[in-house]
Amino acid sequence: MSDLDLLRSGGVVGGGGAGFPLWKKLSSPAEILLINGAECEPLLKSDQYLMQRYPSDLLQAASRLASIIHATEAVICLKDHYTQQIRALTDALQSLSLMPAVRLHLLPTVYPIGDEQALVHSATGRTVPPGALPGSIGCTVVSVSTALNALRALNGKPVTRRFITVAGEVKKPGVYCVPVGMPVRLLLEQAGGATVQDFRLILGGPMMGPLSARDTENVVTKTLGGVLVLPADHTLVRHAELPLEQARIRARSVCIQCRTCTDLCPRHLLGHPIYPHLTMRAFASGDRLEPSAMLCMECGICELYACPMGLNPRRIQQKQKAELRAAGEKPAFQLKDPPPLAEYHQAPSGRVLSKIHVACYDIPVPKDATDVSSPIVCIPLKQHIGAPASPCVAVGDQVQRGDTIGRMAEGALGADIHASICGTVAEIENGIVVIRARS
Ligand code: SF4
Ligand code: SF4
Repeated sequence: MSDLDLLRSGGVVGGGGAGFPLWKKLSSPAEILLINGAECEPLLKSDQYLMQRYPSDLLQAASRLASIIHATEAVICLKDHYTQQIRALTDALQSLSLMPAVRLHLLPTVYPIGDEQALVHSATGRTVPPGALPGSIGCTVVSVSTALNALRALNGKPVTRRFITVAGEVKKPGVYCVPVGMPVRLLLEQAGGATVQDFRLILGGPMMGPLSARDTENVVTKTLGGVLVLPADHTLVRHAELPLEQARIRARSVCIQCRTCTDLCPRHLLGHPIYPHLTMRAFASGDRLEPSAMLCMECGICELYACPMGLNPRRIQQKQKAELRAAGEKPAFQLKDPPPLAEYHQAPSGRVLSKIHVACYDIPVPKDATDVSSPIVCIPLKQHIGAPASPCVAVGDQVQRGDTIGRMAEGALGADIHASICGTVAEIENGIVVIRARS
């Protein structure tokens, strides 16, 4: 089997965001492989834990993946204050001889430096053009957890578990190693349960993760990096739950067009022609779309950090972007010179942490992750961009951890899906395979 086939049959997809299948990403050659160890969302610690715990594996993964895309070097990018991780990786580098070579690049401690485009710019000095991907300038970016999953898959071990940060109002916050498909409510039980009566969940980091009601049947997937429990009256919850019509009224009456949202937008700081203050103006007028909303990566800086009036430019960017897409708009954008003193307009991570009122939930990177088991897993057959996998098991089948339960058609965009616990297939419905553990 080729390396790319091993990655597809091992079920390796991007560990954050939409879950782009790694075999597809690595099918195109690139000059530089960048490992994204920024973990820039406040409170998340899983990647920092992995870099600290498995430095040699990560270095070997970086070099191996670089060789697959014929890159001349691999660069592990991590924040300059991750001292333990820098030390662990530097020590491991001294005892390994890798080809292609691997080096470290230290990123400034600003948010969102883990955005692929900001990361590429910091590590290489190159700027990804607006609307393009890092591959267009010879770079491929892979996250820490994805690279480690890839190394395991290349050694014949599929993706069945996910390291995940549980934070906020829970009794035992920390990093957990969780079977894919474990219901989030069971994970919260393992974390000691919520410490407040009325709470909401954020699935992912506090800046970009979607809000979820507490009683929905969310499960841990290959792409879920964090679960944050917040009181129902927390400022992040209030922002996310504000009805859009109310956001429009506020935009009309309160937006002072100061353009701080634009001046501090990380994509604007790279020279992308994106103007959230113009989107606010268009949205307030009620009948226009601002084309540059297409360039928004929804980092939340404009809304949760920049706007002095507490308005919702990010949500409005999201809405207008969706409408522009639905209308089939494909505007062309030109890269511009970055604004003067752009680096001084970046948002320091510590300031972001306190501005969104989550500093009280910040914990140190734990020495050990907590391994949890689950009596039941509900495994979606689609945890990636592309087509869902087709089930290749039937109700009543006995499965072992690592058995393939969903297979991709040859060449289709996606990745195979595997049993994450040993047990019996109890149900296959609505694209979800339910497995109950053997008692
Ligand atoms: S920062 Fe706030 S008030 Fe200023 S232009 Fe943007 S949305 Fe309007
Ligand atoms: S969410 Fe706001 S700050 Fe972030 S990219 Fe979009 S417009 Fe820029």
